[in-house]
Amino acid sequence: MDDTKILLSEKDLPQAWYNINADMPVPPTPLLHPGTMEPVTPDFLAVLFPMNLIMQAVSPERWIEIPEPVRDIYKLWRPTPMFRARRLEKALDTPAHIYYKYEGVSPVGSHKPNTAVAQAYFCKEEGIQALTTETGAGQWGSALSMACNFFDIDLEVYMVKVSYFQKPYRRIIMENFGAQVYASPSDRTNYGRSVLAQDPDSPGSLGIAISEGVEAAATSNGAKKYSLGSVLPFVLTHQTVIGLEALEQMEMAGEYPDIVIGCAGGGSNFAGFTYPFLWKKFTEGKNIRVIAAEPASCPSITRGKYAFDYGDTAAMAPIAMMHTLGHTFVPPGIHAGGLRYHGMASSVSALVEHGDIEGRAVPQVATFEAAVQFSRAEGIIPAPESAHAIRVAIDEALRCKESGERKVIAFNLSGHGHFDMMAYEQYLHGKLQDYEYPQAQIEEAMTHLPQVAMA
Ligand SMILES: *Cc1c(COP(=O)(O)O)cnc(C)c1O
Repeated sequence: MDDTKILLSEKDLPQAWYNINADMPVPPTPLLHPGTMEPVTPDFLAVLFPMNLIMQAVSPERWIEIPEPVRDIYKLWRPTPMFRARRLEKALDTPAHIYYKYEGVSPVGSHKPNTAVAQAYFCKEEGIQALTTETGAGQWGSALSMACNFFDIDLEVYMVKVSYFQKPYRRIIMENFGAQVYASPSDRTNYGRSVLAQDPDSPGSLGIAISEGVEAAATSNGAKKYSLGSVLPFVLTHQTVIGLEALEQMEMAGEYPDIVIGCAGGGSNFAGFTYPFLWKKFTEGKNIRVIAAEPASCPSITRGKYAFDYGDTAAMAPIAMMHTLGHTFVPPGIHAGGLRYHGMASSVSALVEHGDIEGRAVPQVATFEAAVQFSRAEGIIPAPESAHAIRVAIDEALRCKESGERKVIAFNLSGHGHFDMMAYEQYLHGKLQDYEYPQAQIEEAMTHLPQVAMA
């Protein structure tokens, strides 16, 4: 097949999401209550999440049907295109074949609406009228704002204060869709007020904003639920629509990847793209290398500890077994804001431990170098997060050039970088820097891991 774009039609949109619980080669680890450190009950989680999403997270079923109203909204931009990166292959002079799945064609420019629309739908199904959430630079907040607008749900967004003022465009997108956006730390929650009392000029952090969103829902007497855009099992499941389409597209291209790659913040676009390929490995023995690309400055998979840790900074969220840099670790202010989470989705971590997934840390400057090289060959300016996957794909393609191997490499391009142009400006003018791996800081954060008695 000679096509550059490999396109599916709307009738090829998957009917069901893939749930890796059905095929995990290792038993699941429990989620623990942040206070008692005993396994959480559905009742505890039900304060924050609708029951149908909680049941999805623990479901052993391999396929979870995508409801018709969700598929109808997916059709606004799905199926997304898969590209054969012929011009990049030529620029690299590699015998490798490079493919990328492009999620930047969604209305808000990333993969995040795949779960935002699903979560808004399942909340509406249970009669929930209002949601709270947090957002860093605004990618998740803009996706959920659009989704809540479609299902007529009120949305309250706690946006990290420094981004609220420095990156106003995504805030305005959220407001356009009708969301209420507050700079975090705010004076609307006890936690926000406590942070402001200590430091009135606090720039905020994702951990603080998560704690505010959680508190706003938990203290609403059931009026509001909380929504999270990554890390949780049902989020990863919703994102598998990406990889299921990619499987069909690779078949149309007449090739099967030797290597699949995604960038990993909390793990959702990575898992969404790669888990369907792992399904083929686990059930049909189709061997494949699966690589998770992460920033060298926030290297949870490659340098973190596999341990129980809290999901948020204030230690109010459940404790999960995962690769973690410590919930009190504040990563450097790199431009790939979506990759600055201290932990990793539990199933991704378990599969790393089991040997099915490799982590690869890449430094910031080399990542932007790959992003610019990619954009000059393919025309798309990638999100800085996605550029981590591009760096790894280019490195693998260059390895093929040395060895003469004609490998097939496929990666997920999780979003475009149109709201990240200040980061590109810094790179293009030589002002971007690499951050050393902050060994001492991470060791300090490790001393705050919860002391969990169970193995
Ligand atoms: C949020 C985001 C990420 C990181 O989140 P994951 O849950 O790890 O996928 C990556 N890329 C883009 C474009 C994002 O918006």
